[in-house]
Amino acid sequence: MTILLPQTRGSAGRAPRLDIDLGAVAHNTRLLASRASGELMAVVKADGFGHGALDVARTALAHGATRLGVTSLEEAWALVDADLGVPVLSWLNPVDADFATATARGVEVAVPSLPHLAAVAAAPGRTRIHLHVDAGMARDGAEPASWALLCRTARRAEQRGEVEVVGVMGHLGCAADPADDCNALARTRFVWALEHARAAGLRPRDRHLAATAATLTDPRSHHTMSRVGAGLVGIDPSGTTSLRPAMTLTAPVVSVRRVRAGTPVGYGHAHRTSRATHLALVPLGYADGLPRAAAGCAEVLVHGVRRPVVGLLSMDQLVVDLADRGVDLGETVTVFGPGDQGEPTVAEWAAWAGTIEHDVVTGIGARIARRVRGVPHLRSLS
Ligand SMILES: *Cc1c(COP(=O)(O)O)cnc(C)c1O
Repeated sequence: MTILLPQTRGSAGRAPRLDIDLGAVAHNTRLLASRASGELMAVVKADGFGHGALDVARTALAHGATRLGVTSLEEAWALVDADLGVPVLSWLNPVDADFATATARGVEVAVPSLPHLAAVAAAPGRTRIHLHVDAGMARDGAEPASWALLCRTARRAEQRGEVEVVGVMGHLGCAADPADDCNALARTRFVWALEHARAAGLRPRDRHLAATAATLTDPRSHHTMSRVGAGLVGIDPSGTTSLRPAMTLTAPVVSVRRVRAGTPVGYGHAHRTSRATHLALVPLGYADGLPRAAAGCAEVLVHGVRRPVVGLLSMDQLVVDLADRGVDLGETVTVFGPGDQGEPTVAEWAAWAGTIEHDVVTGIGARIARRVRGVPHLRSLS
């Protein structure tokens, strides 16, 4: 067996690395802003879908977004600390969440039920709230049967100065399939919810239903604002629009071995080589967020050529079949990227694993070094 000596390549990092391209986020934000009829809220929950909440927030605000949204209050604090100068909405909290601090720090909160309303109204100060209606997916938001009462109760709390109802929100369950009848039903239910709010005396400035897919495909759902998350980082659940993926994952080859035909590879000997070949070891596995379910389908880019990942993915490592071609130790392998150089995309990894792109990008592990490119010019947001 020939041992190939590593070549020194200056600053080319040897460790696995996740590159975040904020230029892609900027591009996607501009495209989404041009499609939205109303304002654009940048949803940066789950650390900006794994891309860095503050980096995505700043980029989106510099390129057309005017608002920020997250799920928990804990996620909101980091945005408030950064003092980005725009309202922040948090929409998924238990009834005993720290609404007093939310009010004190100016965070707007979604209210999906009477118990939540009572908790928010009891907090000192006047909290800005968005009443959240379930538009038909039996998940978050008030059930239609309780909506009228929620609106009336919120109006009374508003008159007492305990809350200010600045918004009404809903969410679409089937927007990824624009042809699904469920979208029309949800739109109708949302308009019905707005009418009830108005009848109760509420005058919500923000009325928002659409996320990325509906922003791109269904103007009738736009109302005064769109809440977009996936689209900012290049994911279009509707599959109708070409957005720019913002993540590239690379790793060095740790070792290369030449093996005979019939060599079993990895745990459970789940793969046997069909011919004599070279196998490269890459130090990335399911602990780094690569879905184990992609085994048997996954590929990576080596020297500009797609090569199959063989055997099961381990926690920390995977094996690539290089065929008759050796590589230098330390050679960089591209696991996924925007696809411009022929590398696999996150969408392909998701398909190989039977999941969606969101699942892959939000799962990339903390031990991978990150490099952020295209840091946006900070415009004044005061
Ligand atoms: C995550 C989320 C969004 C953003 O959805 P995308 O499809 O990622 O744009 C919008 N609204 C709510 C309530 C969400 O939870």
